[in-house]
Amino acid sequence: MTNPRPLPARYPEDVEHLDGAARGELRIPVCHSCAQEFWPPGPVCPRDFTTDVGWVTDPGTGRVNSWVRFHKRYFAGDEVPYTVVQVRLDSGPNLTTTWTGPADPVIGEPVAVSFREAGASVFLPEFGPGGQA
Ligand SMILES: [Zn+2]
Repeated sequence: MTNPRPLPARYPEDVEHLDGAARGELRIPVCHSCAQEFWPPGPVCPRDFTTDVGWVTDPGTGRVNSWVRFHKRYFAGDEVPYTVVQVRLDSGPNLTTTWTGPADPVIGEPVAVSFREAGASVFLPEFGPGGQA
């Protein structure tokens, strides 16, 4: 028996990212001390542990770092198979999201973000071919 895919919880660390996605913006945490973007969101920079962190709107471009195809239906309503991709953003962090491309991803392929409504007013970033050539 499968349950519907749960929507992401609105933990305080994730609200800016989720609200940005609903506006069509990829909001990523950034450290004001070392100027590096990081992922996942958290109260401190993972490089220098400062709490002087904020958010930036990332252009949402990067390259395929890895990918996997799921054949098992873990949640009711999921269409299988589906592809999940790990993207290395041009700004540095890795994001793991759904793949939107019509063909299999290629390691190193340029990608661009888009946003999919996953539930009532809940939007999630996903990636497909795009960005720089
Ligand atoms: Zn830092």
